Amino acid sequence: MKTIKIFDMNWPDIGEAIEQGFDSIIIAVGAIEQHGPHLPLKTDSLIGEELTHSIAKKLGKTLQGPTINVGCSEHHMEFPGTVSILDSTLKSIISDYTQSFVKHGFKNIIFIPSHGGNFAAMGEVIEKLQEQYPDNNVIGYADLTKYLEIIKQISVEAGITAEEGGAHAGENETSIMLALEEKLVVKERFEPGYVGIFGEKERNLAFSKGLKALTDNGVFGDPTKANWKAGKVYLQKLCDFLVSEIKKQM
Ligand SMILES: [Zn+2]
Repeated sequence: MKTIKIFDMNWPDIGEAIEQGFDSIIIAVGAIEQHGPHLPLKTDSLIGEELTHSIAKKLGKTLQGPTINVGCSEHHMEFPGTVSILDSTLKSIISDYTQSFVKHGFKNIIFIPSHGGNFAAMGEVIEKLQEQYPDNNVIGYADLTKYLEIIKQISVEAGITAEEGGAHAGENETSIMLALEEKLVVKERFEPGYVGIFGEKERNLAFSKGLKALTDNGVFGDPTKANWKAGKVYLQKLCDFLVSEIKKQM
């Protein structure tokens, strides 16, 4: 097979893959959203695309579905360019993707959010879909608290504080983008954003009032600490973590 990305494939090859036992499909749930003055709007979608690609290869017999390139980003709307959809819209898209892939014969349909604002809506619709399709495994990784905790652990292991690593456009996402598409990273604009404690209280404040309640430049964390090698480590460890979480549900 030349590729596992169905967006790049034709129907006979997709049909043959399904017949040969490719019974799982994985889809990233990304965003079109500001990522500070130094990263592109596609950051979450690109990270999701790469992450789901490596997860698919590690799981084996898994195709990669087209990334959902837009998500729930209302809390970023004070920054130019962000496109946000309603929770209900995201739920409908995930539901319609699932219906399509069930029809084509996939047994495991796996959604991986790469943007914090998508976790809650995705988790809710996944629960409904599991009831709706009892003969399939509709899987979605929906635990945002644990996901952020894993990212923190990876940062701390590399000598970066959780605050510098940051929950948005800080060291961790900037490192990953340096590893994936360095030409889109504007290094001259690296500057720390909010680097205080980012717990549940701060997260809820950002979600309800918008990011500017905490950060003027749209950054949580410190991109000046970023480097591409750390980006590769984040990607690999997040892949390993998500593979083990998905396997629990397969
Ligand atoms: Zn992001």
